[in-house]
This record gives sequence, C-alpha cells and structure tokens, in this order.
Amino acid sequence: MTYIDMHCDTLLTAFSTNAPDGILSLPEAALDLRRMDNHVAAQFFAVFLPPRSSFAREGISEDISDLEFIERMRDIFISSIEKYSGVEFARSSNEISANMSRGISSAVLTMEDGRAVNGDLDMLRKFHDQGFRAIALTWNMENCFGYPNSKNPEEMSLGLKPFGKDAVRYMQDIGILVDVSHLSDGGFWDVSQICQKPFIASHSNCRALSPSPRNLTDEMIRSLADKGGVAGLNFLPGFIESDTSSRKTSAQSIALHARHMADVGGIECVAIGTDFDGFSGELDVDDCTKMELLFSELKNQGFSSDDIDKIARYNVLRVMKDAIS
Ligand SMILES: [Zn+2]
Repeated sequence: MTYIDMHCDTLLTAFSTNAPDGILSLPEAALDLRRMDNHVAAQFFAVFLPPRSSFAREGISEDISDLEFIERMRDIFISSIEKYSGVEFARSSNEISANMSRGISSAVLTMEDGRAVNGDLDMLRKFHDQGFRAIALTWNMENCFGYPNSKNPEEMSLGLKPFGKDAVRYMQDIGILVDVSHLSDGGFWDVSQICQKPFIASHSNCRALSPSPRNLTDEMIRSLADKGGVAGLNFLPGFIESDTSSRKTSAQSIALHARHMADVGGIECVAIGTDFDGFSGELDVDDCTKMELLFSELKNQGFSSDDIDKIARYNVLRVMKDAIS
C-alpha cells in the first residue's frame, strides 16, 4: 500500500552531503526518488532553514542569505525530479490523485521555519508562486510569526505575533497549509482560533504518551480534528516513547500513537509525518520501503483497512482539497 508522508528532511541531507544526484538517488538517506516507486504516493519535502548559528555544522556557507539557501534547496528538489519520470512535482490533491492513478509518485514542496517571510505577506505569495504548499510557522526559534515549543511554561504559552495572525489568514486565503509542528502551545491555540479551514501538524505525536513539548495534548488533537485537520505520526523515538531521551522505537509504539490520536480526535485526524532524515535512532521502519510494518501494526491496533487507507493517504488528500485547492 502506498502512503503520503507530510515531512522529511531529505533535501538537507542532499544539500549538506553535496550529493551529485540530489534527492534522486541518496543511499545514505531514508528515502530518495527512486525508492519512492511503489511505496510512496506523495512525499512532502521540507526546505528546512536551520538557525544561522548551525549553518557551519550543516555544511552551509555562512555567506549565503536565507533566501539564497531556500533557492538552492528548491533547485535540488526541481532538478532531481526533472531527472526522473517516476516522480512529479505536485501542488494540489488533484495532481497527487492524478499521479496516483498513473502509478506515479508525487513530490510536494514545503518549508520548515518561515523566518524568511520576514514579516512580509508578499513573500508568502512569492513562496506560493514557487510551489510551496505548507509552511511550519516556526522551527525551534522565535521568528516573525511567533514562538517555538518549549519546556519553559512561560515561553510555551506565548501566542502568535500580530503579523503571525495576519499571515495565518493570508496563508489560508492563498492556499498554503498552516503547519503548527514546532509551534508554542499559545501559538497553536491562536492558529486554531483563526483558521476557517483545516490546518496541519505535519510531524507531531501525542503528548499523553510521550511528554515532549513537540507533541500535541489531547485538547489540541480534538481542536485540530474539529477544524478538519491532521497530525502526522513522527517516527523520532523521543517523540514516541514515554522516555523522551529514548533513541529506539518500534512500529508497534508508533501504532499506539495512532490508536490514541484516533480515540481522542477520530480516525479522520491521523496521518503520517515520518521526519525521515531529520533525526538518528534505531527504528523498525527506517526507510520508505518498510511502511508495511507500520500498516500491520495498525491492523493489530484494531484499525480496519478503510481506516488504514485514511491514515496512509486519504486524510491528507482531504485536507489539501479542503484547505488549499
Ligand atoms: Zn521538524
């Protein structure tokens, strides 16, 4: 069965290793375009903009501006896809569905940390024109939208900045998915209040099972579901296990998050957001060809095959249809 994954950091792996084929063939990564065949219906590829303080560590020249960096990452995305007929750049649920019916995988362009928007709504329009279809408002740093998730309750309660509120409305108007993964709890509640259409938590799990501030509380899951949104199951062990320092997790543990999320918010809010190539750890499902291991654990958790279809693909397609096209 094929699936849609709402988050990976594979573009950064290609960039920082200077991979000659970009994301076309990247054996050291958890996925590449060639391996998506017959496994991945659609992969969201994030242009993750690391903090400037870690540019050197990521192998990024410190002379490069945020906008140049985004442009280079987008170039890797576009040029890799151009070299391969099995994957197409998709900008809507209709394009993904059409590709699925032709047996072709889709690649969706997203952004993690919207700081390059720099308080300018026109930049959001520009990113939309370039094909970006989801933006995680923050990563783990404050920016023009608001504040990140935090273990500090005071920081965690901070809401969106006035620009962030305008930007969320504008993103929903022009058709960019608002992604609350990494955002503060206060920011989440502002997004939830403002959004007239579904929004996403592209790669976040259940805080009731794993207390990381990156995960969603039950109240948040209910609110996201009420708006018709989805949360993508993140495979990072510290966001799955009750011990957040854990470096090992299983398909069964991920399925337990799916079960809890569905029990709290309903089956319609559960999706996949692996975070592949965004962390290291020991996993059962450690690359895009092994997702069947998760699907069989979902079955063991009592999900029907219709339910698993929704988790794997149809919930995300519905959100894209309702929110951006
Ligand atoms: Zn992330």
